[in-house]
Amino acid sequence: MPKFLIGYDVESYDDSTKAFLQAASKVHRDLESEATIFIVGKTLEKNASIAEEVLNLGDLEFHQHTYSHVLLKTVVQENEEGITIFPSGSFDEVCEEIQKGQQVLKDILGVEGTGFTAPYNYYRGIGDRLDLLQVLRDNQIKFVRSAGRNERDWQPVPFEWQPYFYEAQGYGEILECPIHGWQDCIAREKLGWENVTEYIKMVKKDIDHACANQLDFVYGSHDWSSIRHDPELEHIAELIMYAREKGMEVINYSQYYEQKLAEKKIK
Ligand SMILES: [Zn+2]
Repeated sequence: MPKFLIGYDVESYDDSTKAFLQAASKVHRDLESEATIFIVGKTLEKNASIAEEVLNLGDLEFHQHTYSHVLLKTVVQENEEGITIFPSGSFDEVCEEIQKGQQVLKDILGVEGTGFTAPYNYYRGIGDRLDLLQVLRDNQIKFVRSAGRNERDWQPVPFEWQPYFYEAQGYGEILECPIHGWQDCIAREKLGWENVTEYIKMVKKDIDHACANQLDFVYGSHDWSSIRHDPELEHIAELIMYAREKGMEVINYSQYYEQKLAEKKIK
């Protein structure tokens, strides 16, 4: 049964994080569907009490998205607007970002984080950076979303790039989950933010494609973008219901990781 994995990058420094957490918590509670939050450490510091409330409800799990949104790798984005460079932090900065991200989760929520989303995402993730894989290992991170860009460091990312362990690199306990298709903020900007209906249609087509080919769907969204023109997150509710109707199972990343690990051991 193909899986629908919902992950939210929660990274705002304004009121949208609180509004998002309240709305997401309600949607996932009402539909009894679990999902995963990847939160920036500084954002968590500003939203400690609401995050704790949401965590205690049990529908959303919390992992990190660095301490202050520093890139692990430089992005060389190539699209119709030309080439745009988004520089990475230094190696030392990145080490500190990830370590602090873990610390804040522990201090504020009592969570030993095992998941990580890399800011911006990169072509082929961090498979070409053994030093970064080692940093993740040193911080007990088991699942990562860092491969959400194609060979032009752009999107969409093919669904055929299914989650994989960094086995060949010697980090076989770390699972990469490439974020598929278009990320919500880019797609919605293109379609027009107010045109939520068109966005839902687009993602439903992706769900159809994943189901027809028995592929898992790693869905990427954000706090600020998901609530824009849809404060109750009705599009998320509709997508969850549609995915289930089509035969997908909606689970969170921790559950998915355990399943993939078990499959690996059987092989
Ligand atoms: Zn981000």
